[in-house]
Amino acid sequence: MSVPNSPSSTKILSKSAFVAALQCPKLLWRLYHTAKDFPEPSQITQARFDEGREIGRLAQALFGHGIEVAPPSNAVNLVQETTREFLKFRRPLFEAGFLHEGTFARVDILQPVGSTSWDLFEVKGVTNLDDSHMVELGFEARVLAGAGARLRRCWLVHLNKHYVRRGSIDPHRFFVKVDCTEQISALAQEIDQRTEDAQGTIQQHVCPEVKIGFHCDSPCPCALREECWSYLPEHNVTELYRGKNKAFRLLQTGVQRISDIPDAESMTVNQEIQRRTIRTSETYVEPKAIRSFLQRLVFPLAFIDFETFSTGVPRFDGLKPYQRVPFQFSIHTLANFSASAEHRHFLAEGAVDPRREFMEKLRDAIPANGSVVAYNAIFEMGVLDECAEALPQFEHWVRSLAPRFIDLLQPFRKFSYYHAAQCGSASMKAVLPAIAGRGYEDLAIRDGETASAEFLRVTFGQAMAEERQRVRSSLLSYCGLDTLGMIRIVEGLRKAVGEN
Ligand code: SF4
Repeated sequence: MSVPNSPSSTKILSKSAFVAALQCPKLLWRLYHTAKDFPEPSQITQARFDEGREIGRLAQALFGHGIEVAPPSNAVNLVQETTREFLKFRRPLFEAGFLHEGTFARVDILQPVGSTSWDLFEVKGVTNLDDSHMVELGFEARVLAGAGARLRRCWLVHLNKHYVRRGSIDPHRFFVKVDCTEQISALAQEIDQRTEDAQGTIQQHVCPEVKIGFHCDSPCPCALREECWSYLPEHNVTELYRGKNKAFRLLQTGVQRISDIPDAESMTVNQEIQRRTIRTSETYVEPKAIRSFLQRLVFPLAFIDFETFSTGVPRFDGLKPYQRVPFQFSIHTLANFSASAEHRHFLAEGAVDPRREFMEKLRDAIPANGSVVAYNAIFEMGVLDECAEALPQFEHWVRSLAPRFIDLLQPFRKFSYYHAAQCGSASMKAVLPAIAGRGYEDLAIRDGETASAEFLRVTFGQAMAEERQRVRSSLLSYCGLDTLGMIRIVEGLRKAVGEN
């Protein structure tokens, strides 16, 4: 995120900086004073930016032939002058920019109303609006009104969650316009106050001290999270299972390590298990629960994992905004615990709807009987249900598969097995290295979100053949380890109860 340059020494508060201020004054100050220390945006963040731009462009089509104010936001004066020129034409303006008493906002769309007024539209690539969108719109309206624009009404434009793509995107059905004029006028005083506070913060010479807390992840993970949280020792209280409130309270009292939590502190059963495993360095195992889980497994075992993408702008016919599209699966099958695992996989090729081929190949790969094991199986089951809805020829098969699913997450979510190295998490990324001694550390792609962003980039973007091949190979390694990892986890559980 860049901040606008000012010709004077006064720092200008942009809309994105105002949004940062809503999350944390320290984040805001650092944006203006130590911007170079910010980490580069991840592939995931970059993909979100790109999609936001695509959605913005589609929304412009709602307003006919408008004029784009092209200069970049860090050239405040140029943006302002260009906007002033274009306002005279009384045509829809895209990305118009206004400056008022040290505050600066660029507006997605301004539509002329009558001979002197304007309607303001802010486009959001979400299917549901929340209060933060309203406050952002309020900031824009404040800047525009202060700069002398006569605003009639202020609108938020968001994606229609019921829209189903058929052919090219129809912007009039794809977007929903919500008149927020009354709500933002009710917020005016609060926005004035927040703006003044933020302006005060960026003019300060010293970074405000802010303790870590819930705000570090809300409304989104802060770019400085790693840095601000780095003082915490290994096995610190923020790893307490479902215990963030308790953790931040304990930090206030100087308790950082789980092992140092006083015995008098009220803890849940799972939190007690965490403290005990750290203090004793012993893994916690409930043999009865684990044996009963293992007894439910019926051979041949099919360990499956899917990768999906979901985009605000549906890529194919029949999709809604953000509907999941499976593009990859890995399946390891095991005839018995002494046999070698057989591996099959699918990774979609080309910018076409992969769902039919995905389902056909998966149906071929899953044995006709035996357990289907997934980690957090609700995800795989949900994806299959959605595919069956779109492709009814698979409905019967998907329904027959449902009772065969076994969720490998369950023993860990229930704390039937817990190793201190899981750091309070039951996710596979935490469990695999804890139980098997090795995880995803050697892989180029290590999580599902990155897998999805990378697949989209090399499949629908401009990647060269070599780059595409490199990413596809990383995707195969990543998804393959997810299913091989499940076998290792089952082996770990068997070992923990003396079954191998
Ligand atoms: S990590 Fe938390 S405390 Fe640090 S700047 Fe971000 S929101 Fe503020």
